[in-house]
Amino acid sequence: MRRHDREVTDPEKIRAVIDGCGCMRIGFIDGDEVYIVPLDFGYIENGEKYTFYFHGAKEGRKAELLKSSPKVGFEADAKHEVVGNYEGCMCTALYESVIGTGVASIVEDDGEKRLGLDAIMKHAAGRVGCEYNAHAFERVCVFKVECTQLTCKIHE
Ligand SMILES: Cc1cc2nc3c(=O)[nH]c(=O)nc-3n(C[C@H](O)[C@H](O)[C@H](O)COP(=O)(O)OP(=O)(O)OC[C@H]3O[C@@H](n4cnc5c(N)ncnc54)[C@H](O)[C@@H]3O)c2cc1C
Repeated sequence: MRRHDREVTDPEKIRAVIDGCGCMRIGFIDGDEVYIVPLDFGYIENGEKYTFYFHGAKEGRKAELLKSSPKVGFEADAKHEVVGNYEGCMCTALYESVIGTGVASIVEDDGEKRLGLDAIMKHAAGRVGCEYNAHAFERVCVFKVECTQLTCKIHE
């Protein structure tokens, strides 16, 4: 990272940044195009290794790409604000963000699917101990991105 002074390596601070992010953008490689899709997310942290969970339809472009192109990039951010003196464009953007790469896969195991949905509900809706309608549970696709690299940057 060029601006080392803005790089965050403290795991607790990284967790706080991720907790503050509303949605995560997943970037898929689709042939000679890039497909970026914003999604609600949750996560499970094991040591300093993050697994991000998402849910959606079993059909559609991202569902197809999950099978054919599992290497993904991701980005999430929070606290974006442009501040400073607008005269002479002496202003700057404040933000907190994470960027990384990972390997995406569909969660097939029902136990892990429930854990993934729990993580999404906790992060996206602040809800714990959710019960899931059996039909909806069966219909939804839960997928995960196992992080291979993650960097965090704060400009405050
Ligand atoms: C903040 C936010 C949170 C979201 N959270 C979720 C979530 O948790 N789960 C979920 O399934 N979806 C979520 N969505 C919707 C998501 O971005 C996609 O629209 C949806 O998942 C369908 O993706 P798909 O690849 O199946 O698209 P398809 O239905 O297959 O459509 C393909 C084409 O539609 C266009 N398209 C698809 N999505 C969008 C979009 N969001 N904006 C503009 N054009 C689009 C693109 O051109 C794409 O090539 C969220 C959207 C936003 C903005």
